[in-house]
Amino acid sequence: MTYQELINKIVALQDDGLELFNAGKSVLGKNLLATHVGDYSGVQILIQAGIHAREYITSLLLVEMARNLYLNDLVKGGGIYFVFLVDPDGAELVLDGINSVGCEITRNYLISANNGSLDFSQYKANINLVDLNTNFNANWGGGSQNVFCPATEDFVGFYPESEREVHSLINFTLQTRPLLTISYHTKGNVIYYGFEGMTSENLIRDQSIGESFSELTGYPLIFTENSTGGYKDWCIQTLKIPAYTFEVGNENLPHPIGEESLPEIYAKNKDIPLLALQKAKEYANQIDFALHFMQNKVKGEKYESNAKGYYSRLQSRIDRRSSNRSSYC
Ligand SMILES: [Zn+2]
Repeated sequence: MTYQELINKIVALQDDGLELFNAGKSVLGKNLLATHVGDYSGVQILIQAGIHAREYITSLLLVEMARNLYLNDLVKGGGIYFVFLVDPDGAELVLDGINSVGCEITRNYLISANNGSLDFSQYKANINLVDLNTNFNANWGGGSQNVFCPATEDFVGFYPESEREVHSLINFTLQTRPLLTISYHTKGNVIYYGFEGMTSENLIRDQSIGESFSELTGYPLIFTENSTGGYKDWCIQTLKIPAYTFEVGNENLPHPIGEESLPEIYAKNKDIPLLALQKAKEYANQIDFALHFMQNKVKGEKYESNAKGYYSRLQSRIDRRSSNRSSYC
């Protein structure tokens, strides 16, 4: 599969009638393609995929999910946002190889970080050699596998939320205010939930919802330990909402998991979006739906203004970097 073929599969959803929009931008300016299925009123959830470059099979999984839900008109009384591919620059590198990178300095930088190899099929990071799922501001830099120098995986960035894709996903989440999020990754057929510092009430809530996902998929539910800075972690710590990481695909399969595994992965996960929306509605009801939304709205506005602050700080860092490094492309 080429990168263009991957994008074409996402864009083809428009032929079925789905509306595509951008959840933000990548470092190289690519659009983070997204869609919404269901009603914009009521409880919303968000499902994202492809935040690790070599895990683009998860983007195809979301395409199948969104198409099925939309064509069969399955989502009612709430809505589901899908963000298909959070690391498009990295996915292009994995799928099309190092020659897809236009800038020679960047190419050499990437090859050097890849131990001189021209094989980028195992690449996880974004084009800045930052592992996006360690760059969120949730106990940033505290994970057992974190590294602090640019690398093809596990580099947390020079500071939290340094990356444009991370900013985009944060901002999109703050704007859409989901009550539950799911992040699709490969591999291992497990579901991770929870994060340190949770209240016991939220821990019980998230475990209970996670158990229903585990029952449906057959994937064991595991409490997250020694992992920080992920999107799931940020959702739990900052937004206090239930958030999960699904690692799909058999552990024995090599990365990147190919399209031939999609039917099996889809079969196990096809009903997860509807179950997730249902569970989000149930917990919203338990804590007084109207009151929660009022609080959520107030919080959302606060977060949005925080997001604006983040952006202006980020922009001034970028401006400083650009003036220092005129050859950076
Ligand atoms: Zn991953």
